[in-house]
Amino acid sequence: MTARNSVTPRAAGEVNHYDIDTDVVIVGYGAAGAAAAFEAAYTGAKVLVLERSGGPGGASAMSGGEIYLGGGTPVQVACGFEDTPEEMAAFLKAAMGAGADAAKIEEYSAGSVEHFHWLVDRGVPFKPTMWDAPTWVPPTDDGLMWLGENSWPFTESAKPAPRGHRPTANDFGGKLLMECLSGAAESAGATALFDVYVTTLIVSGDNAVVGVVARQYGKELTIRARRGVVLTTGGFVDNDAMLAAHAPELLGHTKVSAGTDDGSGIRMAQALGAGVRHMSSGQVGMSLIPGLAARGMVVNARGQRFMNEDTYPGRIGQAALYRQNMGGSWAGADTAMWVIVDEAGFEDVPEPQRWGVQPTHVAETAAELEQLTGLPTGSLADTLRRYNEFATAGADLDLHKSARWLRPLTSPLAAIDVKAGIRPPAEAGDRRGTGASVFTLGGLHTDLDGHVLNLDNTRIPGLFAAGRATNGLHGIGYISGTSLGDGTFFGRRAGTSAARTE
Ligand SMILES: Cc1cc2nc3c(=O)[nH]c(=O)nc-3n(C[C@H](O)[C@H](O)[C@H](O)COP(=O)(O)OP(=O)(O)OC[C@H]3O[C@@H](n4cnc5c(N)ncnc54)[C@H](O)[C@@H]3O)c2cc1C
Repeated sequence: MTARNSVTPRAAGEVNHYDIDTDVVIVGYGAAGAAAAFEAAYTGAKVLVLERSGGPGGASAMSGGEIYLGGGTPVQVACGFEDTPEEMAAFLKAAMGAGADAAKIEEYSAGSVEHFHWLVDRGVPFKPTMWDAPTWVPPTDDGLMWLGENSWPFTESAKPAPRGHRPTANDFGGKLLMECLSGAAESAGATALFDVYVTTLIVSGDNAVVGVVARQYGKELTIRARRGVVLTTGGFVDNDAMLAAHAPELLGHTKVSAGTDDGSGIRMAQALGAGVRHMSSGQVGMSLIPGLAARGMVVNARGQRFMNEDTYPGRIGQAALYRQNMGGSWAGADTAMWVIVDEAGFEDVPEPQRWGVQPTHVAETAAELEQLTGLPTGSLADTLRRYNEFATAGADLDLHKSARWLRPLTSPLAAIDVKAGIRPPAEAGDRRGTGASVFTLGGLHTDLDGHVLNLDNTRIPGLFAAGRATNGLHGIGYISGTSLGDGTFFGRRAGTSAARTE
């Protein structure tokens, strides 16, 4: 007797009745699921999307909507930037870090302009104008932004071009993106059932996936998938047991999700022998305003800078969580971090773009700020002296922040404690926490066509996956837009592959 939510596959021979019979079942209705559903239905298959929530959306609908696209998109061209798939791939290989999937990155970069047009054809609007300053999401409806491409060390490995494409919205664009993609999937003929939680895969005697077991309002449903099952269930940041087992550094921080990322799709496939990759990797957003950080210094609990402040802010977060302030013991891991700015830098970022962030301490000298913040005596004063020397000379010899953002910091100085939190316009309430907001990047191992691979690197018949249920492009690194980007790009592949399965 297996437990109620067991992921142990059910043998098809034990299923004597199917409640629903279809060609392709898609589990999870976020961006990856919607892209898969569209393509599978467009190919002519009968498609059913099963979603545990009351409607489509997932994390995708809550997101900034930033999609990583390049290689010469019309938006890039209109904004005056030259780009090629090769430069895009070179950047991504560096930015996705150790373990990045080079073959997927090359495929993704080569197909990026086509994918841009596919999104536009699905009704996703992109305004061909540029937001040219560090930010999480442009506060305007500009469609293009930098995501670290023009910052060190990436300036040394690829010709810089901005590739952050955000659907036309002020601030967060994920809701609009999901409305377009789910509308397209429905127009193509895909249907959906909501409040349905898929628990288990159904497998035939030759280990092919032929359906799923689900629960709806306490009742079990068995659903037959004649051609294939696509898992687009998102990551596992909401499953503390999985975090403890695979990515313990991500425990205890704010979870960047819709609350439904319980890793169920990953576990169902693992129970069938699926391989996983980079389960310890995570995106780490620190509660800092990138525009303020770029105009000042970011220091750790020892008062030292550790990352060029003009880079993609998620890199600052990963460095803070994984490499700083360890206190000599993993158990003592902390995210203490301060943004140091002067009055001119603070005022230079318009108030609405500061997302409610205020200086936590203000002082005339670095020594006073050390006392107020508890930073070691002399540490901040030394860091400031060195920073101001670099700024005066116009070259940051330590961390290579671009000369554009280098300016000597003058009194009075402010320190912003990242643990005080930030509040994007779309969110309400007190955000004080660890300062870090995280989601997982590890997941199922898939091939370029969206097939889930087993531990022998061979395809599991009838099983496909995309989005954050998979590892996608990522090694240990992350850049905004690669999640919605690889989810929709390889979601399309997975949907097409499933629909074409005989
Ligand atoms: C505030 C915020 C901002 C972000 N900004 C960006 C950004 O600008 N760019 C970017 O690329 N990424 C961004 N991200 C990350 C990105 O949104 C996600 O990584 C991405 O949406 C994942 O897409 P997905 O389709 O794989 O999963 P999701 O969109 O999470 O969809 C998965 C769906 O599967 C459903 N599900 C899960 N398990 C089951 C089950 N067993 N049965 C049935 N249904 C199930 C869930 O309910 C969910 O609806 C952001 C995330 C947040 C929360």
